Parts: sequence; structure tokens; C-alpha cells
Amino acid sequence: MQTFAFSRATRIDQAIQAGTRASTAQQGAEVRFVAGGTTLIDLMKLDVEHPAQVIDINHLPLGEVEQTSDGGLKIGALVRNADLAVHPQVQQHYAVLGEALLSGASGQLRNMATTGGNLLQRTRCVYFRDTACACNKREPGSGCAAIGGYNRNLAILGVSKHCIASNPSDMNVALAALEAIVVIRGARGERQVPINEFFLLPGDTPQRETVLEPGDLITHVLLPRPLDGARSHYLKLRDRASYEFALASAAVVVHTENRRIVQARVAMGGIGTRPWRSPEAEHVLAGQAPSPALFDRAAQALLANAQPQSQNGFKQELARRCLIQALGTVTA
Ligand code: SF4
Repeated sequence: MQTFAFSRATRIDQAIQAGTRASTAQQGAEVRFVAGGTTLIDLMKLDVEHPAQVIDINHLPLGEVEQTSDGGLKIGALVRNADLAVHPQVQQHYAVLGEALLSGASGQLRNMATTGGNLLQRTRCVYFRDTACACNKREPGSGCAAIGGYNRNLAILGVSKHCIASNPSDMNVALAALEAIVVIRGARGERQVPINEFFLLPGDTPQRETVLEPGDLITHVLLPRPLDGARSHYLKLRDRASYEFALASAAVVVHTENRRIVQARVAMGGIGTRPWRSPEAEHVLAGQAPSPALFDRAAQALLANAQPQSQNGFKQELARRCLIQALGTVTA
């Protein structure tokens, strides 16, 4: 393990100044904020992440969940996954988020992991975590051992010839279906980024996963006011019942009236290089009477551009069934 400088910030502006200053001095790449540390510390031990500077942000005032004036929710970046999952507002109005959080990791990890950190969870591609292997995400230009290698758990949507890693988060899939907004503060001030623009496709720069710039700090996540009358659900399919990442998951938010779907939001996990919101599936569902045949058409629209690899073609059928089941649950 390599040595690194450690500091602690107690004010948001202090954290941003320290991050920006250190990023500039270190040419941008080697500064990390740490809160729960459930991803970062693992990756530092594996020598995948080797920051020169680590800034502890656990003492920043970002640990609250508040209602917004427009009926939405403002979630501090330091709110722990375990606390957010059982927050009364989440349980009552954003069930899909609570279910997604509780399906992730283990109780101990959820007690530590934060909202901001979960947004930045790194892939579980085995080659990314093994420094003896080629990995464009870890070492740009080195190749991708997963293409033609072990890729059973990796993505079939949004892939490139440089990287096929799937986004591992459950929370992010629910946030995509809820049209969350990520609030970021950095050297240029504050900006708000819709979650579907926050995550980048791998393209030819898989090392760049989000729109965050060096020194940027996620401060909050905003949830819009819940859809009136909508029901939501998160369904996760995996190799074992707990403490396992999704092979395919579905986050659905559906508003029905008089047995017609007025509006649907659909996102899937486990199959995309980023949380996979599907306007195509939503278009198929809008205005229609719920039925298994309709849900099947929505799934086919979502999966139309799937590019399975040598070992993960089964995800197409698994994702199809996952979405049909989740939509059936919220429209029953
Ligand atoms: Fe690395 Fe991405 Fe290829 Fe995995 S899929 S080895 S993370 S480049």
C-alpha cells in the first residue's frame, strides 16, 4: 500500500478548497473524499486506487433528509444507506428507493455506506480489481480482459469496445426511475445534474464514469415530488438471496388510472454500463392497459440494442422476465 496524506474537513467550503487545491497540485487525478469508505478503502488496499490525498468529509453538515418546498426530498450526501432506507418519507412516497437500498450489500455495509458514496460505487468487474490484468478503466490503453474473458456479470447495454463493466449500484437504479438530481459543488460553484446525465457511457474513456471534475463534492440528492397516485417497486435478481450484486434488476414507478397506465418510469440495473433508464419502454407503456403482453413489448424495446458478450447472453431473458414481473407487481 502506498502512503497518502490525510486531512479532515469540517466545513463544505473548506472541503472543496482542499479538494480543488490538492487536485490542482496533483494534476487532478489523485484526490479522494472519503465518508463510509466501503468502496475506496477496499480499492486502496488492492492498489487499484492510490490517491495522494484523502479528505475525510464525515464531519460536514450533510447528514439530513429534508422535505423541499415543492413536496420533494433533499437527501444529504452523508445520509447512510441504512437510515435512508427506513426514513418515513422514503417508505411512504419512494418505496422503490427503500427497497433498492435494502437489497444492497449487508446490514453492516449499509450502516457505513453513504448516499454520495453509493453514487460513486465502482464496478465489480474482476479484472478491474486485479492489477495483474489488462483493464482500460483502471489503466487507460491497457486493454479489456473482460471482452472474451469472464464477463458473466457484466453489461449488455451501453458497452463499448473498450469496456463492458456494469454499474453495480441498486440505489442508483431507483434514483434513475425517480428522476433524481445530483447537487454538486466545486471550484465553479454549485450545479445540479439530472441523474441520467450524471453517469457517462464508457465510450473510449471508460476511466471517466461521471461528470464530476477534480475537486467536485456531491452535497445532496434531490428527489422530485412523488408522482400522484403512482406505485413503485424494485425487483432484484441475483445468484443468491443476500449480499450479492444484481444480474438484472428493475426499478419501476407507474401511475395507473381506470386500468390505463398514465405514466411509467422504468430503469434497470445489472445490465447496463450505467443505471439504465429506458424512455423506449416507457413509451410502449404510456396510455395502455396493463398486461403481460404489453410488459413483454416494453422489455423488448428496452433490450433492442443489447450487445451480449461471450458469457452474459442469459441476461437478456433474465432482464425481460425481471421487468415483466416488476411491472406486474405495481399494476396488479
Ligand atoms: Fe476493465 Fe471495463 Fe474491461 Fe472490466 S470491462 S476489464 S472494468 S475495461
